[in-house]
Amino acid sequence: MKKEFKAESKQLLELMINSIYSNKEIFLRELISNASDAIDKRKFMSLKDSSLEIDNPTIKIDVNKKERTITISDTGIGMDNKELETYLGTIAHSGSKEFIKALEDNNADIIGQFGVGFYSSFIVADEVKVISHKEGSDTYLWTSEGISDYEITKAKEDINIGTKIILHLKKGKDFDEFLNSNKIEELIKKYSDYIKYPIQMDKEIKIYDKDKDGNEDYSKYTTKTELTTINSMQAIWKKPKSKVTQEEYDNFYMGHFHDWQKPLKTIYRKAEGALNYEMLLFIPSHRGFDFFSPTYKKQIDLYSKSVFIEADCEYLVSDAFKFVKGIIDSEDLSLNISREMLQHDRNVTKLAKAIENRIKSELGKMLKNEREEYNKFYDEFGMQLMYGIYDNFGAKKDLLKDLIMFKSSRNQEYVTLQEYLDNNKDCKEILYVAGKDIDTINKLPIMETYLDDNKEVLYFLNDVDEFAIQILANYQDIPFKNISSSSNDNEEVKKELEEKTKENEDLLSLIKDNLKDEVSDVIFTNRLKSNPVYLASGEGLSIEMEKTLSQMPGANDMMKANKILEINPDHELFKAINKLYETNKDEVADYAKLLYNQALLIEGLPLQDPVAYGNLLTKLMIKASE
Ligand code: ADP
Repeated sequence: MKKEFKAESKQLLELMINSIYSNKEIFLRELISNASDAIDKRKFMSLKDSSLEIDNPTIKIDVNKKERTITISDTGIGMDNKELETYLGTIAHSGSKEFIKALEDNNADIIGQFGVGFYSSFIVADEVKVISHKEGSDTYLWTSEGISDYEITKAKEDINIGTKIILHLKKGKDFDEFLNSNKIEELIKKYSDYIKYPIQMDKEIKIYDKDKDGNEDYSKYTTKTELTTINSMQAIWKKPKSKVTQEEYDNFYMGHFHDWQKPLKTIYRKAEGALNYEMLLFIPSHRGFDFFSPTYKKQIDLYSKSVFIEADCEYLVSDAFKFVKGIIDSEDLSLNISREMLQHDRNVTKLAKAIENRIKSELGKMLKNEREEYNKFYDEFGMQLMYGIYDNFGAKKDLLKDLIMFKSSRNQEYVTLQEYLDNNKDCKEILYVAGKDIDTINKLPIMETYLDDNKEVLYFLNDVDEFAIQILANYQDIPFKNISSSSNDNEEVKKELEEKTKENEDLLSLIKDNLKDEVSDVIFTNRLKSNPVYLASGEGLSIEMEKTLSQMPGANDMMKANKILEINPDHELFKAINKLYETNKDEVADYAKLLYNQALLIEGLPLQDPVAYGNLLTKLMIKASE
């Protein structure tokens, strides 16, 4: 029976085929990588199930010019009919919805962030057959002619345990090159040399006749085909760093982790001593489309003596560094224990610590020596470091606090906390302000004086920033200070304001009375220039934090900021209200409500009663025109 690809898979497939057309040759790398994974899995399973043992694991590539086919056969774990359906019937089963959504949001770069694996076959093939045999199941055949549908039937002929993928190449000059064995050989060397199982091809070998002196006569020969291994088979992480070029590391990374872009940073380390291991880690140059999705998996693969143990190990790298991908190979792990037990193995804990320290020190080095690279990195993954500080009640805050950065109000560039302290020697507080983007923040009434005086304020542009900073509390004993919170710490200013408050005591308490359900206090401030009012937060949650929390499920009134209405006593508007107070006290109530609502609007908070606000405005407008 024919089955249709899921709708979103279809859409994806079409998009993918068109957009990576210029990079068609990667299909081979993807299929070989899958074949190698399948052999890895089989070898791992064979530790427990001897019927799965294989003497000669191989990946074989056959090119048939006449039939226009390329066949990739492996002696891996194989798939039964159910697996063929789930793995090959839904493209990227885990993330395709999010992926399409991202595409619809017009993120043109997105295709490059997506590992397409098996489906890259359709870039070059108009028909794909997968014949697969899994131990304990029959041999099945999966066929598809591209984006319309696929079919799974019992295969007519049986094959040994493993999988055979037959690509029927599309017609046209663009595809003919893949029928050339030399081209295929070149691609294997370029992309899959490190694959640790032999990738074999039948190669034509010329056997020259001998002349009468016993030398080879190059004009006369017969040919025979011989099975030849094309790749060097050395696990790239087993080779000394000096023997591997960056290009080779890049190709390995792109092949193994199905990325389309080179990594930003490659980290290699071999440790010998109490704990022996090789570590080959990569910091990607971009986050995948699913990075923030709950289905995102950390991609650290664990090996022991080049033998695959487990993919996507959650426990080898902390959440703050979940963007790092790579390979860990250690001979000091007990392979016979279950995965659950492995997590608690003492050596695994040590390994995780070593990985964490290494990533931290590499990032620190990049920050110091390659600032542009680090800024690029930070644009992609900085938010994750900030989550790391907040996560787990700050368990990792010391690890991360020197790595985080914020954009500065001085030049809109990133600064670290250390740099902030260096720029502002003897400062008593690290000033910050939270908001959704720099433009919006700069328009806040409270920013005016800071910008005019060129005082350095850090922009907190992500929701998590303020929460993380609450956990940090201070940096080198200098506390953080939200400039939107209400305060006048300067004694001189305090005194001046106190005097003004005294002079206007009655008016202020009238305003306060009228807003007693809305704000906890109404005070004068000297921090405003051209604006009449501002809504500041008191102790506890800030207004930005209230906004974030209000969007979470289970939000309640406890999660509200304590709001203080700050009034600029030198503003024309206040002077006008003051006048009004002497002639027409009743109208002051209206003005108080208007002021408060205006402050809410500036803060980007919803008006509690927009209709009442509208009515008030109308009333005043009519009055003004009389
Ligand atoms: P990925 O390899 O990134 O998971 P693919 O689309 O390439 O995505 O493959 C989907 C799944 O199909 C694989 O995870 C694997 O379980 C299965 N698969 C693909 N190729 C093979 C193969 N040669 N042998 C066994 N299983 C395979």
